Amino acid sequence: MTRPDPDLSPATLAVAAGRPGRAQGAPVNPPVVLSSTYVSTGTPGAEMLYARYNTESWLPLEEAVGALEAAGLPGLAFASGMAAVEAALHLATPGTAIVAPRHAYLATLTAARERTAREGGVVREVDIADTDAVVAALTPDDGAGPASLLWIESPTNPMLEVADIPALAAAARAAGALTVVDNTFATPLGQRPLAQGADVVVHSVTKYLAGHSDLLMGAAVTADPALRDRLHARRTTGGAVPGPWEAWLALRGLRTLALRVERSQASALELARRLDGHPLVAAVSHPGLRGHPQHERAARLMDGFGSILTLRPRGGGAAADALTRAVRLWVPATSLGGVESSLERRRRLPAEAPTVPEDLLRLSVGIEDVEDLWADLEQALHAAAAGR
Ligand code: PLP
Repeated sequence: MTRPDPDLSPATLAVAAGRPGRAQGAPVNPPVVLSSTYVSTGTPGAEMLYARYNTESWLPLEEAVGALEAAGLPGLAFASGMAAVEAALHLATPGTAIVAPRHAYLATLTAARERTAREGGVVREVDIADTDAVVAALTPDDGAGPASLLWIESPTNPMLEVADIPALAAAARAAGALTVVDNTFATPLGQRPLAQGADVVVHSVTKYLAGHSDLLMGAAVTADPALRDRLHARRTTGGAVPGPWEAWLALRGLRTLALRVERSQASALELARRLDGHPLVAAVSHPGLRGHPQHERAARLMDGFGSILTLRPRGGGAAADALTRAVRLWVPATSLGGVESSLERRRRLPAEAPTVPEDLLRLSVGIEDVEDLWADLEQALHAAAAGR
């Protein structure tokens, strides 16, 4: 494999990392290797042994994700974002506290709660934007002891709260806790948590990194070889490994990450500005809006503000459902980060946090023409207001 200069810009690394070596006649793209096992005798050494432990089909993507997060080590590919999340949650010491955003992705919170219910310990759910509250939760007086893991999602899904990652990671380190950042929303183009002090980054590759809503995959990345070994061991034992086709397709999607994110981010900000103050809109949230409570922090810590915004139409949950039925171009669907724009009323999911408003629609902006997206949204707002 070629190893591009790690100082190249992330947009370049997304294209250049994880390519086969440049021997005469070598393919430009990595081959898909369809083999569950490898020839091997005696005591296994460094060779490929069995495709649940390691396989060539993951390596180019792992190389590229590691380069994008500036880890200095390849990432680890998982069968889904949740498989990567589960492996990272296993870094918490059993019986201790996990500090996590109360608006983290709902399955992440479920997994953390299930783990502590099974093995002891607690999940302390915090407002991740409130740095003092998060720091206090790392070493509180509740008898459950200090936290061994700080989980950060920033911006959060779906409330779009923005965390002060450098301050929180420094506080966690001082308290003896590891910091994991779910970087799915921002992507490595928007923020690089390892450089801001985090120990591990996880991704739902399903979303922006792969970018086409055609596969499920996850990744975990760290600059610490010992942590990487623990995550790798967890993946091998848990068996939540991706198939070779998915890994290949995800890398193909990753090649256009910068173009997709540039376009969708610009459109998200434009749409958020138009919706802000619109007569049929009760509230809009996007870290790029000056009125967002952590706008300054996002401007300081992020490159761009992401491609997700939230919208609460006038008329409550019924209007939000009507809007979802009225859109023709936007796709009413869960998930996010695809080339196609999509939207979802999150509280239709029973497990969503009760502090997420009933009428909140999460909009994932894709790469279509922004005027077409706007026209469709406006007609749907009017249809919802008219009770259609
Ligand atoms: N993290 C975040 C922020 C997500 O939005 C999601 C999925 O929606 C996940 C993790 C889980 O990823 P996957 O669906 O690929 O398992």
